[in-house]
Amino acid sequence: MAALVDAHCHLGDAAFDPDRAAVLERARAAGVTHVVVIGATLEESDRAVSLARGRPGLSATAGLHPHEARGWSVEVAARLRDLLALPEVVALGETGLDYHYDHSPRDDQRRAFEAQLGLAAEAGKPAVVHAREADDDMAAMLGAAGGALVLHSFSSGAKVFAAGMRIAAYFSFSGMITFKNWTMHEPLTACPPDRLLVETDAPYLAPVPHRGQRNEPAFVRHVAEALARVRGESTETLERRTADNACRLFGARLATALEPLGDS
Ligand SMILES: [Zn+2]
Repeated sequence: MAALVDAHCHLGDAAFDPDRAAVLERARAAGVTHVVVIGATLEESDRAVSLARGRPGLSATAGLHPHEARGWSVEVAARLRDLLALPEVVALGETGLDYHYDHSPRDDQRRAFEAQLGLAAEAGKPAVVHAREADDDMAAMLGAAGGALVLHSFSSGAKVFAAGMRIAAYFSFSGMITFKNWTMHEPLTACPPDRLLVETDAPYLAPVPHRGQRNEPAFVRHVAEALARVRGESTETLERRTADNACRLFGARLATALEPLGDS
């Protein structure tokens, strides 16, 4: 059976407030079977849970983005621990390191990232990791990570790729690989077939031919097509394989599929 999973989407973002139901219907019509709804703040995590609750085809994550790491506290940790115990929450995240924007001090980022990796391992759920311009620290911290994880919208250098390979991380590719200025073909072809995922990171990073527009889950097909082309595989094979990988990483809930509007 055909399956296509958007492994990372900020469906709770206000950008989707006007037409979220229509966005999901377009995704379903485009062949997307499942969308992982990301929580990058406590608020967004709560929203992800309420979107995914009782809805086949949607799963949630709960975490604190590195931009927000200055707000890390024992209270936040306790709240995330509670969220991670819920059946619709399939992963911790997004967490990680972002030294491009440095919205939070780097010490705070490392502390929140390390603590969240611990929460994920404790819950027995994978971590969704954001990495930007922090290759040395990211590679070192991945080396110490215990549980399963995915490097989302992968765009790091060889050092992080190698560190991810050593711990059998999953690599999720976004619309960035369709951009004209994308030059890193090595990770696209070197990533083992059972470690590949595709994502939109919507509403950000719309792939060509929608670059500059609001991104949405239906566009994940453009990412799958681009990745299949570079790897010399059929799009069908790549979609099936990345859906299987998402199931292995995030659990059986990922095998549930979006239903047509009006069914629930
Ligand atoms: Zn994201």
